[in-house]
Amino acid sequence: MPGPTTALPITIRGLTKKFGSLHALDSVDLDVKSGEFLTLLGPSGSGKTTLLMAIAGFNRPDSGSILFGEKEMILAPPHLREVGMVFQNYALFPHMSVAENVAFPLKLRKIAKAECEQRVEEALNTVQLSELGNRRIDQLSGGQRQRVALARAFVFQPRILLMDEPLSALDKKLREQMQIELKHLHRKLGVTTVYVTHDQREALTMSDRIAVINHGRLQQVDTPEVIYNQPANSFVADFIGESTMLPLKTEENNQLYFDHILVDSVPDQKSSQDWMLVVRPERLFPLSQESIDSDQHLIFKGKVIESVYQGETAFAQVSISEDHQLTVRFGTDASARKFLLEPGDSMELGLNRKDIILIPR
Ligand code: ATP
Repeated sequence: MPGPTTALPITIRGLTKKFGSLHALDSVDLDVKSGEFLTLLGPSGSGKTTLLMAIAGFNRPDSGSILFGEKEMILAPPHLREVGMVFQNYALFPHMSVAENVAFPLKLRKIAKAECEQRVEEALNTVQLSELGNRRIDQLSGGQRQRVALARAFVFQPRILLMDEPLSALDKKLREQMQIELKHLHRKLGVTTVYVTHDQREALTMSDRIAVINHGRLQQVDTPEVIYNQPANSFVADFIGESTMLPLKTEENNQLYFDHILVDSVPDQKSSQDWMLVVRPERLFPLSQESIDSDQHLIFKGKVIESVYQGETAFAQVSISEDHQLTVRFGTDASARKFLLEPGDSMELGLNRKDIILIPR
């Protein structure tokens, strides 16, 4: 399957969409690079679909600009935007065969019959459905329907592909398999892709970059590694991955403390804001008898509240002060089993200073 002639970047500036007094999109600026896989990630009602539909041309924003390459698209109707679209419910034509569904965008574009047949065959090959061209849609499994919807979205070689929660109807195992297939397909086609999901693991798995959105505003746009390791604020830290946030006190010399534990220096000494320490459960580790270097580690002492075995990992909730508790996640190999303690037992936890994440409070 040949890729699109050229992938296009998308440049969004000041995009605002109101429904009554609700700002579904609040002055959104976003650059989607040519050929990248960018995921819009946010909770229900955060504005993901509204933003995707604005890019597709299915809703009209109140103000702002959407460029495809150099071309302003904000007033262009959907059919002139030439984007491929995959919907949550697939929106396939039930009375048509698999091949007829995939051929539909080519017929709309009046592509000659022979070329149409060849492109449908290539598209079905790409999504591994070449044997099923004559089947009716209602004779397909969920995963197969999903592949038909995909083939139909890219068969006309769009330069932009938009997907709105395309895997949400599939069970967990198939969803995970399709995530990898979609990633391969994207690499093969090289098409600029904007993908919507509320599933943070899916976003981390698939994306070149993730745009985290809440209440119609972008919170952070960056690679999965940066979003996970350097969240910009408490919303991002909380929404992506598990985390505990501990409020810190700023003492003289700009030193940050949790209780009497010296955590770090204030990262931005010009600002007078308060800071929080974000702790990921898998970055903590239970301490055994042997001592560790306290210059390189923070050490928290506490009492186990709950300890849970989950197969490949286990976790414990540990109370470290009257108001705060930490969750620690650890492996369950033979040497780690001794950390599966009873409620009330004492436990010490280490955190390498390299794993310290500070965010403004
Ligand atoms: P979900 O994950 O649940 O699909 P979302 O992040 O895609 O959510 P949107 O569908 O973009 O969210 O909706 C953003 C906000 O705008 C929500 O508060 C929603 O209720 C509101 N909204 C969306 N469409 C309309 C509409 N046609 N009329 C009124 N309000 C709307």
